[in-house]
Amino acid sequence: MGVTVKALMKIKKGYSGVALEEMQEPEIEFEDQVKIKVHAAGICGTDMHIIHDEYPSSMPVIMGHEFSGTIVEAGANVENFKIGERVVSLTAAVTCGKCIYCKKGTLMLCNSRKSIGSGVNGAFAEYITVPSKAVYKIPENISLEEAALSEPLACVARCLIERGNIKPDDHVLISGVGTIGMLALQISIAKEAKVIVVGTSRDQERFKIAKEFGAYETLNIEEPDAFEKLQNLSTPYGFDVAIECAGHESSLGNCLKLLKKQGELIQVGLFGKPIQFDSDLFLMKEIKYVNGFASNPTSWDIALSLMKENKVDLKSLISYKYKLEDWEEAINSVKDGKGFKTLLMPKH
Ligand SMILES: [Zn+2]
Ligand SMILES: [Zn+2]
Repeated sequence: MGVTVKALMKIKKGYSGVALEEMQEPEIEFEDQVKIKVHAAGICGTDMHIIHDEYPSSMPVIMGHEFSGTIVEAGANVENFKIGERVVSLTAAVTCGKCIYCKKGTLMLCNSRKSIGSGVNGAFAEYITVPSKAVYKIPENISLEEAALSEPLACVARCLIERGNIKPDDHVLISGVGTIGMLALQISIAKEAKVIVVGTSRDQERFKIAKEFGAYETLNIEEPDAFEKLQNLSTPYGFDVAIECAGHESSLGNCLKLLKKQGELIQVGLFGKPIQFDSDLFLMKEIKYVNGFASNPTSWDIALSLMKENKVDLKSLISYKYKLEDWEEAINSVKDGKGFKTLLMPKH
């Protein structure tokens, strides 16, 4: 009999299908794998979509894909990592390695891809095993807790840096003030853009942090004169770039209205369902639409160098920490929408 450990699983459809389960401690199955003791695992918008059956998952599966930890065991073929090393891992853990998408490094697009926390077992658990090729060392100046945010940072880097084109002095609108919005804000500022952040009446506290990060102005979009104010804050033609980080239909509509003609719309948020938008307005303004699906190895290289160079403050984005046993409270803290990242701390 091995040791039993706890993990938060999506077992079947519906909220009642989410449960903390006891199971055998996972063992290394392949010689290229490492076993990681999970230190912190962030709850992501995607996890909320998985819980509510708005994002596909291979049930039963342990959820959680934004994590950090230390290596406790390494397979015989693992050369680059040592026991005790602090690491993070990209989400596209299983890919074919042969298709056109794998060959150019866009692993998320591989038809055989299985992602951590939805396609294969994830990190809302005490231990996780991952292929060592997916694993990255954490820069020395970054704590394990902060490192749990490297996955969302890599996703935002994918959209804003690898796919988007933000230039110095661009007028950038960020719609959505959650963790993703705040990462987009920090990357845009690193790109020397003038950034305006919009949210709703519940975001007052978050606006303060946005200002501290260097937002030029923050605005509640529900105010009656919000659009007029935003027009005054953009170029005379509108915003050069609008970044949709809320995953709401109305947020996308606002971005579309406020962008200048030939502006760039960067879609980072996931809507979780089909939405409506004015496609003729898209066409008549010749909007360039840019997006990104999660992150690739190149996105992680960018994210980790931003962290290493202290270009992003991840610490201020950690709002709540819960034990795995208190997962329901943790999920409620995400629903509350007041803070930024909620972390599950499996071994505490
Ligand atoms: Zn995520
Ligand atoms: Zn492939």
